[in-house]
Amino acid sequence: MKLIIFGPPGSGKGTQASILAKKNKIPHLSTGDILRSKLEEGDDLGQELSTIMSIGNLVPDSIINPIVADKLLSNDCKNGFILDGYPRNKYQSDFLIDFLKKNNLDIDLIIDFIADTTTVKKRIMERSRIENRSDDNLEVIKTRLDKYFAETQPLAVIFKEKFKDKFFEINATQEITKIQYDIENKLKNAQI
Ligand code: AMP
Repeated sequence: MKLIIFGPPGSGKGTQASILAKKNKIPHLSTGDILRSKLEEGDDLGQELSTIMSIGNLVPDSIINPIVADKLLSNDCKNGFILDGYPRNKYQSDFLIDFLKKNNLDIDLIIDFIADTTTVKKRIMERSRIENRSDDNLEVIKTRLDKYFAETQPLAVIFKEKFKDKFFEINATQEITKIQYDIENKLKNAQI
């Protein structure tokens, strides 16, 4: 199973990706999580990531693209993967589409989590109380959402055209269990 989970920060895609990954015994590749673990190493790259991520900007493509490519080619991903938080702009999307083609990898499904700004802001603020993430505060959330709507969301048009019936939208304002149910149904119908 090779999935891309797509949607704004706070839409609950990480939660669903993690549930699906456990159930199907495949890795949950969250680029946010991968970058946060690199940041914690505290070396020069970590310092650079910290500066960029703490204000909600996107990490350069030159850093994230090779990280994702390495992961996708690793043994861990030989039975599939769930990509969460990538691609996030047109360069990453072009890179990924080209990479998949060159490596004969097909995406089974792209799930677009649709949620309004009020809902995602509320969810991120709740998460900030639990996880204490430095980029979960109102000012940074605004930057992250602005980036999402300017650079990431427009990719849905490309995905729809490229992946056709493998692309589907989900109402991400629903309860976790209902979203889970909708995804399971879609996977079943697509025989994945
Ligand atoms: P997330 O956990 O997905 O909300 O990501 C947290 C932060 O990591 C983002 O605000 C970005 O600074 C960085 N990040 C995660 N994924 C990417 C990506 N695909 N491209 C660039 N930056 C990313």
